[in-house]
Amino acid sequence: MCGIIGIENNENAVVLTAAGLLTLQHRGEESFGITLSGKDKMKTLKYMGLVSKVFDDEILLKKLSATAAIGHVRYTTSSKSSLINAQPFQMSCIHGNISVAHNGNITNFYEIKEMLLKKGAIFNHTSDTEILLHLIAMSEGELSDIIASSMYKLDGAFSLVILRDKTLIGARDKNGFRPLVLGKVDSKSYVLSSETPAIEVIGGKYVRDIEPGEIIVIENGEIKKSFVYDSSKKQNTCIFEQVYFARPDSIMFKHTVKEARVKMGEYLALQMEDIKADIVMPVPDTGYCAAIGFSRISNILFENGLVRNYYVGRSFIKPMQNLRDLIARFKLRPIKDVINGKEIVLIDDSIVRGTTSRRLVNILKEAGSKKIHFALSCPPIISSCHYGIDTPNKENLIAANNSIEEIRKYLDVDTLFFLTLENLIKACSFGCKKNVGKDNDFCTSCFTGKYPTKIPNDIDRES
Ligand code: AMP
Repeated sequence: MCGIIGIENNENAVVLTAAGLLTLQHRGEESFGITLSGKDKMKTLKYMGLVSKVFDDEILLKKLSATAAIGHVRYTTSSKSSLINAQPFQMSCIHGNISVAHNGNITNFYEIKEMLLKKGAIFNHTSDTEILLHLIAMSEGELSDIIASSMYKLDGAFSLVILRDKTLIGARDKNGFRPLVLGKVDSKSYVLSSETPAIEVIGGKYVRDIEPGEIIVIENGEIKKSFVYDSSKKQNTCIFEQVYFARPDSIMFKHTVKEARVKMGEYLALQMEDIKADIVMPVPDTGYCAAIGFSRISNILFENGLVRNYYVGRSFIKPMQNLRDLIARFKLRPIKDVINGKEIVLIDDSIVRGTTSRRLVNILKEAGSKKIHFALSCPPIISSCHYGIDTPNKENLIAANNSIEEIRKYLDVDTLFFLTLENLIKACSFGCKKNVGKDNDFCTSCFTGKYPTKIPNDIDRES
């Protein structure tokens, strides 16, 4: 879980990158960084915490000028949360000053690190991204070809923005696990971003997606080169981006994520057509769109009975279990007169450990709910993600170890429904035939345990 952005050929590169990072903040709240390049030597600034913390900092916005920049917001999934692992990673090598920002997880990290250590490489970070820097530094040739041959050696998820002086490079792994889009700003500069809203916020226009396996080289407002580095590419974009992770105003597969979430709710309502209730209520914020779709199809009144405290991050976003408990308790508060005496269809996007949902059900019962029908806009999560979404180890995934009836009892709800995988895929592909069934464009490994790439047994997961 991370967000990346890059902009070139723009005298406001620093401010625009910072504004883009703020828009991508939901993808990682732990640390962020910006690499700037212009008249002065390329440099990288990194901070712990939220982008807004230093957004108006004089140093960042006024004293620093640059015409190209890349930025990164980080949520740790595979190494320590610390300033040293904050990105972008800048290095100086035979190819000049190069900086890299990465979204995803490299799954054959240990194998490649081992090989690089034997060749004498020295590692400063515990992050998987560093191996890419070493692979680039150790190779000879033209930079985009070196990036291509380095990426060819890697398995897993890596959407990248890379800066060398004023040249901006974007790259996406051959499966296209994580998103990466291209936009144009002020008609003279290109921007690369994890999600489209970051392009729109800075006044730009979405141009197109970077294709799975594509490398694009941009300089002085022109696309110098774009090619596919691996012809064996097969698209497996993470479907959980649409379920939970991406912003509802993001464009994915030519539609907003909101549209996909509304469809998830519509399909849920069709699956649950016998359910009678007084209100449909979302768990804010991710449940909103699915609840709208559910209400449309079922004709059950949409109501908002939960108030979210926006001053705490997502309950998962802090990786420490003890904080997670505390945050969840004051994150959602009930509106009693909406809930009291009501039979409720409660809609959330997913159940992971089950702990937040159980606490929430308790809150609703204390507020006087009569019955709760809990509906999730994705199937049960039975496997950890190895491609950049934070899911715990299998032993902590409630659906990996319990039947639906056992989960229902644990959550203490009257009925429990999950959107089927088939309906989820349909919702995300807008009924397009090509995407339905086995031949779809998505990675659904968290629901099926079937990973599109090889997963080593010793892969590091934080629980
Ligand atoms: P749990 O109580 O552990 O089942 O958590 C469920 C809640 O976590 C749901 O409201 C989801 O919106 C949210 N959630 C699901 N996946 C993630 C994730 N990878 N990071 C943060 N929150 C998540």
